[in-house]
Amino acid sequence: MTTAGQEDPGQRASAMGRALLALGDRWTLLILQRASLGTRKFSQWQEALGVSNSVLTSRLRELEQHQILARVPDPQYAGRFEYRLTERGLDLWSVLVAIWAWERRWVLGRQSTLPDLRHDRCGYACTPRLTCTCAPQPITPRDTTAVRRSSLTVADVSTPRLHRRTSAPAPSDPMAYLPNTMELLGNRWSIAVLAAAFIGIRRFGDFERDLGIPPVILTDRLRRFVDLGVFRRGVYDQRYGREEYRLTQKGLAFFDVIALAFRWGERWFPGSPVVTIRHRRCGRILEPVLRCDRCQATLTRREVRFVH
Ligand SMILES: [Zn+2]
Ligand SMILES: [Zn+2]
Repeated sequence: MTTAGQEDPGQRASAMGRALLALGDRWTLLILQRASLGTRKFSQWQEALGVSNSVLTSRLRELEQHQILARVPDPQYAGRFEYRLTERGLDLWSVLVAIWAWERRWVLGRQSTLPDLRHDRCGYACTPRLTCTCAPQPITPRDTTAVRRSSLTVADVSTPRLHRRTSAPAPSDPMAYLPNTMELLGNRWSIAVLAAAFIGIRRFGDFERDLGIPPVILTDRLRRFVDLGVFRRGVYDQRYGREEYRLTQKGLAFFDVIALAFRWGERWFPGSPVVTIRHRRCGRILEPVLRCDRCQATLTRREVRFVH
């Protein structure tokens, strides 16, 4: 529901599109990451991220429009405001935890710089595992099937943002910098290419047709993804000698983030689903949750925290 006179920016897009529209920007991800660690004030984000006034203002306004952050009076200073995560925003915690886990596992040098995640229930520093609610076994994309639900293509949801390119923040605080994730999620076309790969698209021409993506941008994105070790390029069909781009182990592991972000979008931005992910084992729509690798319990927002 939107307030009268206030246009929801993602109104006509699909559930997935609306979720990605709300998240698909590198600064937005970092602002949310900080918010989940307790940041509420403009000056705190500015200090932690080294972000300019205008960029921070515009991103906070968007997060407010998407009802992820709410602007409330600052209890300490009359006339000032602070921003709090709404229920919708708080519900992003598992996406942010999955991003942390992926960066730590797959990005060189991050193991030692990123904090640990402590599970209060068992008391251990844990590594979250993605599972379906039906069983405790970890799942990978191979345990699922992605079914396209409508004629909408990912392109319908991937209108490029109008923001000008902004530089990456200074990595003074390790959590203020998610280098690979920002490449994968920090731009609408990147997300679209990645999402297409997860539903089985492999050839240049198919990406181009399916996404309606300009070839120059597609070439650039594919090259970046190969450089990051997320895609590998090869000729897999010798008969026709056609080149394909396939997800590597590192790329496949990003499924956790994508699956949780999709589910979040479906919960909070009802619309027609472009793609449904089914879990083969139970045959139902994948209900992704994170579990503790130490005690196997399902992780909840209130029972995990980052510790240095
Ligand atoms: Zn299941
Ligand atoms: Zn545990």
